Amino acid sequence: MPAAKFEIKRKCQICGEEFLAKTIESWYCSPRCSKIAWKRRKDEEKRNLRLDEVVKGIPKDQDYIKVSEAYALFGISRDTLYRLIRKETISHMNLGTNQIRVSKAELMKLYPLRKKALTKPKPIVKLYSLEPKDCYTIGEITEKFLVNESTVYLHIRKYSIPTRQIGNFVYVPKKEIDNLYKGMKR
Ligand SMILES: [Zn+2]
Repeated sequence: MPAAKFEIKRKCQICGEEFLAKTIESWYCSPRCSKIAWKRRKDEEKRNLRLDEVVKGIPKDQDYIKVSEAYALFGISRDTLYRLIRKETISHMNLGTNQIRVSKAELMKLYPLRKKALTKPKPIVKLYSLEPKDCYTIGEITEKFLVNESTVYLHIRKYSIPTRQIGNFVYVPKKEIDNLYKGMKR
């Protein structure tokens, strides 16, 4: 069997250059760009964890909060906050130099809460049709997308794609496979 290659043109998420992705999960053109992306993700995680700590420390029963706490809660910058104060869009108190407090309740009405690093997104429950008419057989997939059988099985496991065996045939939902191999049709 000829070695099927996964090759798809993508734009590097870091530098914007076009490159040939060798696997479904290649999003960067080079090790250098991958490293930058990794570093950015790590920094972002650290930042979010720090902000989560600040949020934990905000007294629940107190409406007026510090500027830094408002930033941690809503992710709005100091500048934006001061602009809101100047325009009297939100109520504030001034307890002294650099002791401004703003109304949490009023900010709640204006801004969604910052997405917390600690709340993991819930897995989406997908509904699959495993009726043969909505499925490819493994053979059909290898033909249509020029991927070899072992690669197909690898992807099925890796992406938890459901399968159904009837007799000698393994059926896989068309929708999932079409999505997976988008742009690879011959
Ligand atoms: Zn790049």
